[in-house]
Amino acid sequence: MLSMPLYPLFADLRDRHVLVVGGGDVAVRKTAMLLKAGARVTVGAQVLAPELREWLQLERIAWRAGTYQSEWLDGAWLVIAATRSRPLNARIAADGQARQRLVNVVDDPALSSFQIPAVIDRSPLLVAISSGGAAPMLARRLRERIESLLDPALGSLLQIAQRYRARIRARYDDLAARRRFYDWLHDGPVHASLRAAQPVQAEQQLVNALANRKEAQIPGSVALVGAGPGDPGLLTLRALRALNEADVILHDALISEPILDLARRDAKRIAVGKRGGAMHTPQATIHALLLEHARAGKRVVRLKGGDPFVFGRGGEELEFLREHGVAYEVVPGITAALACAAYSGVPLTHRDHAQSVRLVTAHCQQSFNTLDWSDLARERQTLAIYMGVSQLDELTLQLIAHGRAADTQFALIENGSLPQQRTLTGTLRALPTLAARHAISAPALLILGEVAEQADASHWYGELLGEPPRRFAVPRTLADAA
Ligand code: SAH
Repeated sequence: MLSMPLYPLFADLRDRHVLVVGGGDVAVRKTAMLLKAGARVTVGAQVLAPELREWLQLERIAWRAGTYQSEWLDGAWLVIAATRSRPLNARIAADGQARQRLVNVVDDPALSSFQIPAVIDRSPLLVAISSGGAAPMLARRLRERIESLLDPALGSLLQIAQRYRARIRARYDDLAARRRFYDWLHDGPVHASLRAAQPVQAEQQLVNALANRKEAQIPGSVALVGAGPGDPGLLTLRALRALNEADVILHDALISEPILDLARRDAKRIAVGKRGGAMHTPQATIHALLLEHARAGKRVVRLKGGDPFVFGRGGEELEFLREHGVAYEVVPGITAALACAAYSGVPLTHRDHAQSVRLVTAHCQQSFNTLDWSDLARERQTLAIYMGVSQLDELTLQLIAHGRAADTQFALIENGSLPQQRTLTGTLRALPTLAARHAISAPALLILGEVAEQADASHWYGELLGEPPRRFAVPRTLADAA
């Protein structure tokens, strides 16, 4: 048994001749990748798929029309056999063997003398994965994992680094200092600017750092990250990367354990949340913690439930960071209204029934007094009400008093997107009673409006509570209902 059955290799194919045998979809994919690498591709096939025909017209490829001949191999550095016929593929492989050409037979490692790995492309960085044909599924999964870890700006960063390589070398002739500079390049403001789609600023920061006499320091930074409603699958790739890079994570109490488990193991975690008003960290303390860790040069993630800018005080934190000169970025998250709607099968808008959605918070008397109830009670709009479970009586009374029909449907979603999700449905007038009967508690989101009718039929996740509207015995007043 060989200790390494395949020899890894990255080939420079620019202007080198490569033969692809076969004119179907697989040939299209292989040819596309070869063209990206600058190869001169000749496709040998009787008929060409539409893309290949187009490339032929644009003179990006050449075509050998007709049935396969072993002479086709002459002059080719590499050969890819992508025909549907295994005997033909085997013949191409044998011809390659006789002529000392490396041949890849698509999806047939036994016939291949070279294999094409799964690739993560952040050119000039390429990560290639091979399982030697033993476990292509594993290679694919790994590729997905790594794909999500490497941010798309990495390619641009490496391109800049490549362009400035000589200048960096000249400026830092000491190896250790140069290494520190490259750390700064990867972890500091240049990369952050590229991630923020500010390439001019990024280059300027690099130029400034090279002109500067003293060594570039890695400044701390804060990412305001939306963690979504609870299901880790609803994190964005960007949020996942931020968690992977964080030195310190300041998270709300609402953030679920499976999400925190995705963070770097050695990251310092600080819970600053409040849950139903129980444990409460004053906003000023949160600000102070953000500043303290950022000033200590840490990469801080401020992890918030849902989206940081929807009832999350993200705006205040951002303002504070800006005022104190701390570098920041914001990663949006899936807000509770969107998640709860999706996970209860309720569309928030509907061509016929709801032309607008309002995100409303109703957590205390004070917020009640400032709401425009007649506006909120209008028909043909969807209300998504946050933090409302303790105020359902008052909410229901106000809406009905201001003209919302008492038989308007609601869906009240508790622990949306989490395995313990419960969805309660019914009509507005019965809302407080039903919610009390089923002991719905925070976090829960109320969706009110014509669209909520769909929950009974379209609901697909977790438990569905309440009775279908038609069979529901309707109490006349709230007092009756209670
Ligand atoms: N920034 C968050 C909202 C914070 S306010 C976001 O964008 O979602 C907290 C309120 O959000 C809770 O009281 C509840 O109304 C709602 N909420 C958050 N997560 C929820 C969940 N998983 N299910 C139901 N409601 C949720």
